[in-house]
Amino acid sequence: MSGMVLVTGGAGYIGSHTVWRLVRNGYQVAVFDNLSTGHRWAVPQDVPLIVGDIADMARVTTTIRKFHVTSVVHFAASSLVGESMIEPRTYYTNNVIGTLHLLDAMRTTGVDRIVFSSSAAVYGEPASVPIGEDSALVPTNVYGRTKVVIEGILHDYVVAYGLRSVSLRYFNAAGADPDGGIGEDHDPETHLMPLVLQAAAGRRPSVSVFGSDYPTADGTCVRDYVHVNDLADAHVLALESLEWQTEATYNLGNGAGFSVRQIIEAAQQVVGHDIPVFEAGRRAGDPAVLIASNRLAIKELGWTPQLADLETIVQTAWNWEQHRPIG
Ligand code: UDP
Repeated sequence: MSGMVLVTGGAGYIGSHTVWRLVRNGYQVAVFDNLSTGHRWAVPQDVPLIVGDIADMARVTTTIRKFHVTSVVHFAASSLVGESMIEPRTYYTNNVIGTLHLLDAMRTTGVDRIVFSSSAAVYGEPASVPIGEDSALVPTNVYGRTKVVIEGILHDYVVAYGLRSVSLRYFNAAGADPDGGIGEDHDPETHLMPLVLQAAAGRRPSVSVFGSDYPTADGTCVRDYVHVNDLADAHVLALESLEWQTEATYNLGNGAGFSVRQIIEAAQQVVGHDIPVFEAGRRAGDPAVLIASNRLAIKELGWTPQLADLETIVQTAWNWEQHRPIG
């Protein structure tokens, strides 16, 4: 496919892995990121980085024209579930209104293709697992509600304005690019796998297990961990699918669940020693089990997760944890 891809939020965790994948696959890429949570070092040196906010329609419009952008992969968003409950206005403003402004800039310039970063948070507490794309959308937090609203906006724009759009609902992104240059770096860090590995590296005194009285085999929550490079592959395939389809939504997970304790055990195997654990209470709003049905993405996009094995996911995250920039 010819033309330039604009990646909003391309300096973030999943965004930067997608940028690297696009570049490796021969795409021309520009990154648009306000660096509120992203990192300059995560963007390849020869990829233009425009530091700006997606709500700044004039800036986005200028960028699209300057780089002859023909499609957008849209990651830019506020993405902390807990924070979204305390600051809903920030989340609706950044995520929903920000996306509306981005779509305005796209309409003004005639760019009609978008791949959107959605989330398994749209499902809330599922009625059954594995979760198919047709499961009810009952998010239990503000972050998830912003994603449901944006998916709805994209659908309405497909119908009314001829937009072409794919929404990707990620389960638990984890791991790092095996080539080592980029990985997960949130501040504050709230995700299980980096917290386990930071405890392993002695950067934290212990890792907390949030609840061990769930109705699961070992009492801890079960999640579907998917390698960030496999997510990146799915974005490229989703972008390419807009050649032959106008609208779609896919779950992205491995279709396998691991408990918090299984993650800690896998990490102990990889690092070769015990990791100190603190038994904490439940975290509000955590469903017991979230596992994706990934059949649709496999069937329609031809997506094949390459790094689905848990040990591989943990190993790549551990390599990154030992080499990443600190501070
Ligand atoms: N979790 C935990 N301790 C932590 C962070 C997370 O036990 O310090 C648990 C959390 O309750 C959930 C799972 O690990 O069951 C994954 O949480 P994470 O925040 O990584 O992703 P989420 O599933 O919330 O998107």
